Amino acid sequence: METKVFIVEDIEKNLDYIKEGANVIKNGGTVAFPTETVYGLGADALNEEAVKKIFIAKGRPQDNPLIVHVANKEIDYLAKDIPQIAKDLIRDLWPGPLTLILNKKDLVPNVTLANLDTIGIRMPNDPIALKLIEEAKTPIAAPSANISGRPSPTDVFRCVQDLTGRVDCIIGGEKSNVGVESTILDVTCNPPCILRPGGITLEMLKKYNNDIYIDKAVMNKVEGDFKPKAPGMKYRHYAPKAKVRIVSGETKKMVEKINEIVHNYIDAGLKVGIMASYETRECYNKGEVIVLGKREALNTITPNLFESLRALDDLGVDIIISEGFEEVGLGIAIMNRLKKAAAYDIIYV
Ligand code: AMP
Ligand code: MG
Repeated sequence: METKVFIVEDIEKNLDYIKEGANVIKNGGTVAFPTETVYGLGADALNEEAVKKIFIAKGRPQDNPLIVHVANKEIDYLAKDIPQIAKDLIRDLWPGPLTLILNKKDLVPNVTLANLDTIGIRMPNDPIALKLIEEAKTPIAAPSANISGRPSPTDVFRCVQDLTGRVDCIIGGEKSNVGVESTILDVTCNPPCILRPGGITLEMLKKYNNDIYIDKAVMNKVEGDFKPKAPGMKYRHYAPKAKVRIVSGETKKMVEKINEIVHNYIDAGLKVGIMASYETRECYNKGEVIVLGKREALNTITPNLFESLRALDDLGVDIIISEGFEEVGLGIAIMNRLKKAAAYDIIYV
């Protein structure tokens, strides 16, 4: 399959590229596009055959439902029984990194929703994404634009790397500035429940209902026959080729432990990558050190998280040791992604 790549530098000047992408969607094709969370791989959410192409391109398990992306706040045609809290959140936080799980209406085919009775809907905060959906005149189903299981792409280069020859079109724009996927909030239950932590924090959501909580399957390993509410939770995710381990705890002890582990691996002849923070970057004297961002400003870390995993893979490291982060605010989303990348290999010090 030939993949067209368009780089949109200026949304007005390059409107034709977006229109061409929208035509691909209208004709049942697949288009990767930027969003503020991560790049998405989209198809017409209402076209069964088109949606199947997403699952094939990514190698995504069919029981993992897709989030439906919209360009405005009128979602009555997609969902029913929309509770007041959902209306308030849509009013205040859309467009933005918040997906709401609602009861579906029958318009959306089963393949998009993996046969669930619910639908996840989000309005992305990216001008290219919004224009693409508007021009396509249909909601766009879009998971992250990577091969299933790999770290999500936060720039166009990584989409090209994963999806060339697998999709019809890739539209490039800015780097994703949130850098982790949307927060998924199930508002079909009371109190609402977070199924995936993301760009909108628990603390922000608690202002709407103080009882909102995080599903227990989010931060811990899902084992055996347990069926998580967000089917995607049971799969290995965000994993680079290298093995990942996390060391978490008080900074001085954490740095000491990482140095000890790194030295052992290097003595054993392995190439080691370290994901450090700005504050601790000079504490390591061996291994390939990548600075994620500042501990004191976690929103400087999220945009670099997935890219750092991929960059260390490019350097050919065998093992990546990442610093851990306190699980508050954006730290919850960061640790959720890191733990999955590490298949829950985490050392607490
Ligand atoms: P991705 O598109 O790769 O970011 O993954 C989307 C995530 O949203 C997956 O973990 C899905 O399980 C979850 N999801 C999408 N739709 C629903 C839904 N209707 N109910 C619960 N989880 C959902
Ligand atoms: Mg994904």
